[in-house]
Amino acid sequence: MKRALLPALLLWAAATLAFAAGGTALRRADAEAQLQEEGRRLQRLLAQRADQHDAHLTAISALAVGLPVTREPLAQLADGILRFYPRVLAADVAAVTAEGTPALVFTTRPDCAAGTNCAAAVARGAAAAIDARPVPLPLGPGRYRLAKRVRDASGTRALALEIDAARLLEAEAATGEAAPGATLTLYLPDGTLLLERVGEGPGGPFATRLAFAAPIGSASQPMLLRLERQPSLVALVPWGLVAGFGAAAALVVALGLGLLRSRRAAREARRRAELGEQAARLAHAGRINALGEMASGIAHELTQPLTALLSQSQAALRLAQRGGEGDGALLAAALEANVAQARRAGDILARLRDWAANELPPPRPVALNAILRGVAALNARDMEARGVEVELDLPEPSPVALAEPVQAEQVVHNLLRNAADALEGNPSGAPRRVGLVARALPGGGAEIQVEDTGPGIAPAVRDQLFEPFFTTKPGGMGLGLPLCRTLVERMGGAIEAEAAPGGGARFVVRLAGAAA
Ligand code: ADP
Repeated sequence: MKRALLPALLLWAAATLAFAAGGTALRRADAEAQLQEEGRRLQRLLAQRADQHDAHLTAISALAVGLPVTREPLAQLADGILRFYPRVLAADVAAVTAEGTPALVFTTRPDCAAGTNCAAAVARGAAAAIDARPVPLPLGPGRYRLAKRVRDASGTRALALEIDAARLLEAEAATGEAAPGATLTLYLPDGTLLLERVGEGPGGPFATRLAFAAPIGSASQPMLLRLERQPSLVALVPWGLVAGFGAAAALVVALGLGLLRSRRAAREARRRAELGEQAARLAHAGRINALGEMASGIAHELTQPLTALLSQSQAALRLAQRGGEGDGALLAAALEANVAQARRAGDILARLRDWAANELPPPRPVALNAILRGVAALNARDMEARGVEVELDLPEPSPVALAEPVQAEQVVHNLLRNAADALEGNPSGAPRRVGLVARALPGGGAEIQVEDTGPGIAPAVRDQLFEPFFTTKPGGMGLGLPLCRTLVERMGGAIEAEAAPGGGARFVVRLAGAAA
């Protein structure tokens, strides 16, 4: 479960991060679209206002042709323009003589009325104009002059409007300027800065730049409008949505983990059930085998005294038969009965032995690694509870030998349990290790070694180890090792006990190869 937690957390973090990144990108695109929209609106407004300037000049030119100029209607028109359009600061009309000297014929600027400097300026502006098309000329910061020329029979007139660029977008003064990093700039086509409005500084960490730039759609005043914003990416993150998504994703991940856990638990239960089945099978086989071993042991042990009883009874019988009638006859009858019973007991024992030596399925090639792994898995819990460490030493590919898998498991199981019993007596702190080793033998076949770090086998008992009923354990039966020998021999192999290099005991089971 813990193994799955870290990847799940990483997955959740990655998904939430991706969602936050996606949401931020969408909101940035939204802000960008808003800025473009705002830019196009201002662009339209500026174009309308530029068109109004053109219209004013056209109206003035209608009154300024023909000489002498009638001041009164011109003054009325100019006053009206200046009153209703405060961004128009002044209106001038100059007459340009054939020699090129300009003379101011009308102006709304009182300080200019008498001088010719103003006239010259108006005429300079007008000179730059291409005939009737007005041209904007910069007049210091934030102002420009829009001038044009008109001709009639009486000569050339230069007309000009002085415009305060700062008031071009007066009504829209607050437009978006509170936004972080907002700037609005307006340039004349020659690059002169007419208007610059700067909002607050960049809006915090990870600022991103959004920009709009477009020329104003006016033939006479194609000014360039630029808008900029620098919102912080942190401010663009849709935190509420991210929190919601994070919570939902956490829920999904938790559900997934729960599902994973219940699947694992089911798998574990299945595995345990399988192990339990295997253990039951082994225990059953073990009981049957032990019974057989016991029967054969008893038969072996009783045959000798029975044989002795039989031969002695037979000898006594012969003596009694020679003795004649009376007591002798009685003794002979009793001994005859003895002989008959001893024969019967012998027959029963022989039958018991035959049964115990019952045929097993013939051995077949078996991979020893699988046998040793199976026994280790089967005993894992028990070994852990007893503080015994089981070390598998299995070469790859697995050594193969002729064996009967269940019986081979039975042998290794008995040897492992004996080793664990032997380790029980180890002083605390001494290692409690059992090695389960498989080795291929050079001449074919393979061997299994079960080696422990216990006290080893005392020389005095070495010869008796495999005898039935020999045990040094208080509750022991002394049938484990004889059974191992019987099973191994039935599989065509041999078993031996020896001293392990570390001082413990080592039991070696040699099995024939497949070709043998
Ligand atoms: P039981 O386990 O019932 O005593 P066994 O036939 O399996 O019967 O073992 C016989 C005896 O052999 C044990 O009582 C023990 O004295 C000795 N023995 C078996 N295995 C080991 C071992 N790994 N280390 C030391 N002695 C052992």
